[in-house]
Formats: sequence, structure tokens, C-alpha cells
Amino acid sequence: MFDNLSDRLGATFDKLRGRGALKEQDVRDAMREVRIALLEADVALPVVRRFIDAVTEKAIGQDVLRAVSPGQQVIKIVNDELVRTLGGDPDEEEGAPAPEESRLKLEVKPPAVVMMVGLQGSGKTTSTAKIARYIREKHGKKAMMASLDVARPAAQEQLAVLGQQADIATLPIVPGQQPVDIARRALESARLQNFDVLMLDTAGRLHVDDALMAEMKAVAGAADPAEVLLVVDSLTGQDAVNVAKSFTDEVPLTGVVLTRMDGDARGGAALSMRAVTGKPIKFAGTGEKLDALEAFHPKRVAGRILG
Ligand code: GDP
Repeated sequence: MFDNLSDRLGATFDKLRGRGALKEQDVRDAMREVRIALLEADVALPVVRRFIDAVTEKAIGQDVLRAVSPGQQVIKIVNDELVRTLGGDPDEEEGAPAPEESRLKLEVKPPAVVMMVGLQGSGKTTSTAKIARYIREKHGKKAMMASLDVARPAAQEQLAVLGQQADIATLPIVPGQQPVDIARRALESARLQNFDVLMLDTAGRLHVDDALMAEMKAVAGAADPAEVLLVVDSLTGQDAVNVAKSFTDEVPLTGVVLTRMDGDARGGAALSMRAVTGKPIKFAGTGEKLDALEAFHPKRVAGRILG
């Protein structure tokens, strides 16, 4: 994960570490390298600018350069800024739970509805089953899943198969039923069977379009979700962030699920998402298997970026 970015930053940090004293120009040179590393990682330009300005100001403005090991301090400033950019608090203690904004809010009158939205191929259906499983393992809550994807053939069957694999109930398929009606039937069924959580896997499209947004709004209106999670593929970098921006304008997103982090050597989507959309990343998908899901923890992710 993030190997390219880690290598680039590592090389810059080695130079900083190797020096006893640092001049202002050394910091500026290092920041030029960090800037290029972030841009090559496909981090959005405004996020890169803000990042470099914040780090430069802290590194030069305070007594850092006169400190005993200035290189080490500059590295810590970069680390702290990475944590903040990812939506975390650098001062939180080791082993602390994920930040409040990254946690699922399921404490509503059951069934708490978790609506999954996103483009086709982003990993939405897989993430639906992963999160249902996660909710059982970590929250001790019983979830039912329902697919509202009537556009893609076999989408509903795909969710049923995943449900069987993970031993999670799915709403029986009624051919011909439309998304909002399926959502209502799922709510009723989850209520009657005392499920704590109802996961709604909505239809995807190849691109963001008006019909998709209208359908998402109608489903959200009918199901009153506690969480609306947008699933995006981290490998698509800034495109993932742009998709998130389009959805944010239309549906009340509560967070983002970033899939394929296992194959993401760059990290641009992860680093830009919070700053550009204002929405927290709640989960990272780290593989095809149903247990390959992590609660998103900014401090840990920053630690991985810095190796
Ligand atoms: P959907 O069209 O958005 O519902 O996408 P799917 O859930 O069908 O996923 C598309 C493909 O991506 C499948 O082959 C999944 O196994 C794979 N996939 C989903 N999430 C991840 C992930 O986090 N890592 C990896 N490596 N593959 C994933």
C-alpha cells in the first residue's frame, strides 16, 4: 500500500536525517521534493499546496531549525500534517479507536439503514457484504442485506451469493420490482425479523448521471438511512475524488469507502478525499475476500505512508 509515495518520502527524509544542522533553504528543498512526491501520487493540487504551506510554516516559523535534531522534527511535522489531511488528530494516543467521524453511526431505532452508493465496478456489492460482516463482528449487530440493483443482470444474485458465503441474510429476490419498492419491502422485512441493520446495495452506473442521482434520492427518501456510504476505487486517484464530489452535491453522504487500497501504490485518493469533499473515509477495502476490510484510521495510514 502506498509504496511509491513511501519510497519518495523516505528518500527525502533520509537526506534530512543525515544532517546535523538545517538551514531554511534545506527545508524548502525538502518541501519541493515532498510536493513532487504528492503530485505524482495524484493528490489534488489545492490539497498539496495547503499541505506544503502548513509544513513549511511550522518547520521554518518555530524553533525547529535550532533544535537538537531538526531533521527529525521536520519529519514529525510532515507526519502530523499527513494525519490531519487524512482526517485524524496527530496527538491521539497509540491504539486509540478511529476518530468519531470515521465510525459508523448505528444507534438509531432499528433497523438502522446503511445505504451503499457508487459507480459500477467500484466494489460496492463486495463492500456491502464486507460491512455487514464487520457490523456483526465488531458491533455485535445482526444485518440483513438487500440489492436494489435492477439495472445490472445478476447483481441481486451476486449479493445473495456473498450473503451465503458470509452467512448474512439477504432479502428474497422478487423479479420485476423497482428499487424504491424493494427498499420498502426490505425495511418491512428487517423490522419484522428484528434485524438491527439493513444494508441497501444500490444500482451503479458507468458514470454519474441524472437518472442515477434521482434514483438515489428516491431510495434515500424512502429508507431514511442512518449512513449513506459512497464506495470509490482508490486506484482511480483524483477521479475517485471527483466522483465523490458529484455525489456529495446530490445525496446526503455520511462517509466514503475506499476500495482496492491493497493495490494502491500512490495514495492520492486517500489523501485528497477528506480535504476536497469534507467527508470522512470510514473504511478501506484491502482485498477481494470478505474479511479484507479495515476501519479507516488516519494515524495508522499516515504511519504506513511514512513506512
Ligand atoms: P460493484 O460493481 O461496485 O458492485 O463491484 P463489485 O463489488 O462487484 O467488485 C468488483 C470487483 O472488485 C470484484 O472482483 C471484487 O472482488 C473486487 N474488489 C472489491 N473490493 C476490493 C478491494 O478492496 N480490493 C481488491 N483487490 N479487490 C476488490
